Amino acid sequence: MTQHFVTLQGQKEPIAVGKIVCIGRNYVAHIEELKNQKPSQPMFFVKPATALAPIDQPIRIPPYSSECRHELELAALIGKTLRNCRKEDVLPAITGWAVALDVTLVDVQDRLKKAGHPWEIAKGFDGACPCSAFVPAAKVPNPQDLLIDMKVNGEQRHHDSTQLMIWDIPTMVADASQYFTLEPGDVFLTGTPAGVGSLKPGDRLEMEIQHVGKYQGSVAR
Ligand code: ZN
Repeated sequence: MTQHFVTLQGQKEPIAVGKIVCIGRNYVAHIEELKNQKPSQPMFFVKPATALAPIDQPIRIPPYSSECRHELELAALIGKTLRNCRKEDVLPAITGWAVALDVTLVDVQDRLKKAGHPWEIAKGFDGACPCSAFVPAAKVPNPQDLLIDMKVNGEQRHHDSTQLMIWDIPTMVADASQYFTLEPGDVFLTGTPAGVGSLKPGDRLEMEIQHVGKYQGSVAR
C-alpha cells in the first residue's frame, strides 16, 4: 500500500504530500575529490507522491528490474511556499527532517539513459521513496552536520556526514525553487552519500540519520 501523506512528530494530522524533489549526486566520497568531481550545476528530478511508502514496510522490487540500488538520504519537509527564493529563506521554511530512501532501478535507468529516454520508471514507481516520520526541525541542531549510516544484512554501506554535500541545503533548495515552486507538504531529498549498494529480496536494512531517527527495513521476497 502506498501512502500519499507523511507525519510530523507531535502533530496529529498527517500532511498531504504534493511532490518529492530530489537532487542527483550531491556528495563526494572524500573531501579531496571535491575539486575534480564537482559538477557545474545541481541536477534535479521529481518523484510523484505515490512513490512514498512507510520506511519500515518491505520494499518491493518491480518485476521489470533485476538491479535495485539503495540511496539513503536526509529528507526535508517544506512548510512554506518557496518560489525563486533566496538561500536565507530556505531553512526557516523547513518544518521537519526524515530518513528516506531513493530506491533506484539501476538496470532500467541505465537502459533508458542510453536510449535518451526519461527514466521516471526507474526512480518514481510506487514505493520508490520509503520515508520515515518527520522530526520537527527545532529538534535537529544542525542539518548540515549529521551522520548518515546504513547497513544491509549487518554489512556497512553508507557512513558519511551531511557536511560532505557539494551543494548545501539552502543552496540546493533555493536553486530548485527556480524551476519548481515548492509548496507546503512537498518533500525534498538532499542526495546520497557514498556507499550505495544493491538490494536483494530478503535483505534486512538498518538505517540511521543522527538526531533524525533509526529505522529497520527489509526487501520483500
Ligand atoms: Zn538519490
